[in-house]
Amino acid sequence: MHGMANVNQKPDVLVIGGGNAALCAAMTAREAGATVLVLEHAPRDSRGGNSRHTRNLRVMHLNPTATLTNSYSEEEYWKDLLGVTSGKTDETLARMTIRSTSGVLSWMEARGVHFQPSLSGTLNLSRTNAFFLGGGKALMNAYYLTAERLGIEVAYNTEVTSLHLVDGAAREAVAMMEGGPLTIRPKTVVVSSGGFQANIEWLREYWGDAADNFLIRGTPYARGVVLRNLLDQGVAPIGDPTQCHAVAIDARAPKFDGGIVTRLDCVPFSIVVDHDAGRFYDEGQDIWPKRYAIWGRLVAQMPNQIAYSIMDAKSESLFMPSVFPAIRANTIRELAGKLGLDPVALEATVQSFNRAVQPGIFNSDVLDDCRTAGIDPPKTHWARKIDTPPFIGYPLRPGITFTYLGVKVDEQARVLMKDGQPCANLFAAGEVMAGNILGQGYLAGFGMAIGTVFGRIAGREAAKIARNPSSN
Ligand SMILES: Cc1cc2nc3c(=O)[nH]c(=O)nc-3n(C[C@H](O)[C@H](O)[C@H](O)COP(=O)(O)OP(=O)(O)OC[C@H]3O[C@@H](n4cnc5c(N)ncnc54)[C@H](O)[C@@H]3O)c2cc1C
Repeated sequence: MHGMANVNQKPDVLVIGGGNAALCAAMTAREAGATVLVLEHAPRDSRGGNSRHTRNLRVMHLNPTATLTNSYSEEEYWKDLLGVTSGKTDETLARMTIRSTSGVLSWMEARGVHFQPSLSGTLNLSRTNAFFLGGGKALMNAYYLTAERLGIEVAYNTEVTSLHLVDGAAREAVAMMEGGPLTIRPKTVVVSSGGFQANIEWLREYWGDAADNFLIRGTPYARGVVLRNLLDQGVAPIGDPTQCHAVAIDARAPKFDGGIVTRLDCVPFSIVVDHDAGRFYDEGQDIWPKRYAIWGRLVAQMPNQIAYSIMDAKSESLFMPSVFPAIRANTIRELAGKLGLDPVALEATVQSFNRAVQPGIFNSDVLDDCRTAGIDPPKTHWARKIDTPPFIGYPLRPGITFTYLGVKVDEQARVLMKDGQPCANLFAAGEVMAGNILGQGYLAGFGMAIGTVFGRIAGREAAKIARNPSSN
């Protein structure tokens, strides 16, 4: 189908992207009376970007709610954010985002999202994070259904290739729709096209050949085409272009879209070796939620970008496994063979580790006193001898969650030019501007919080200007 003529080429609001931030902006703008066109690069059945892989969002609340225990104040949320970003954040935008989350649950429910009753799990998030019933896929489906009901136009298989900025305003968007060119002349534009983590060539600029071995946890469509196009036209960048959030995932995961089930939480209860079967980092440095993000980077720096988590039967029930079966063997040598490692080298590594293990009282829930002595690197917690068959191994690769580079915005979600001036009719929401607030690190559930809050602001402001251009 060549549906070029089938879409409104002069919408009040053009929304680029089809994830959480995009749909929040689209629904808000439409509810304010604007005509809205959403252009989503993905086909319908894989719409929703990385948002469809999510499970929860982080919400400030002063009292228990149906789905959150206890309370989570603005101050505590802000301190958590300061902790992970080491201060690389914008306090005004961050506090505004945090405060705005206190109203999002009912807004989301009114648009079809259901939440799970509070639960406990590996990351203990029942106080701070509300979990979507059915996960991010169900959330996105609910939003698309609501969008349809509201009369929002959605075109799938449509990639925006450029936006033309003239005198500080976005005048025209060019897209490829099902292989044919399409030109849109919208009154206002919301850019919500995610990060550039699926653009391996772009990652190669910073990581070299190593990038070829990265696995991308989410959508293959977040390629940063619009981001680069805007930066080339003088839009102010934000966030470190060389950095990405990466976790260690099961190396058997697909190149793209493996999602949450490829994650492995076994590192603290194992030893991790490189392709020469040698250890390279303290596996027990801290509790996993505080350390899981550094392991993506560590594995990315290893030769061939691969590592192996090795443990014994005692540890198997202590962590959330990935969707792939553990690799098992009755001896370390046999396990090495199955993993493609040198059996003699792996046995030597395990033996020297076992000899270094000190007596202690093992407790997986706290920073216990089970540690090694006399080896480098040490294992400072949860160190127990690997001596009880079956022996278990998982191959690990870096799994890229998102990139940090984005466009600079103000409190009205307006995109800022390098000279500090806002574009008259161009807004941004979600991962494409998250670097304003999350300059480094990650706080579980904060990506969806930023996208929801800024999506709503962008939709509101875009509709306002589209319907009354002089209000700018
Ligand atoms: C496995 C995984 C689990 C996660 N879990 C959580 C979680 O539980 N909680 C949380 O808060 N965050 C989580 N995150 C982070 C979260 O996914 C992001 O912060 C959030 O989804 C970003 O939303 P977005 O709308 O900005 O981008 P996305 O949802 O990625 O959407 C980007 C959209 O833009 C489209 N697009 C891109 N380029 C173009 C173009 N040129 N033309 C047209 N369309 C284009 C894409 O197809 C896509 O639809 C997780 C991420 C991953 C990978």
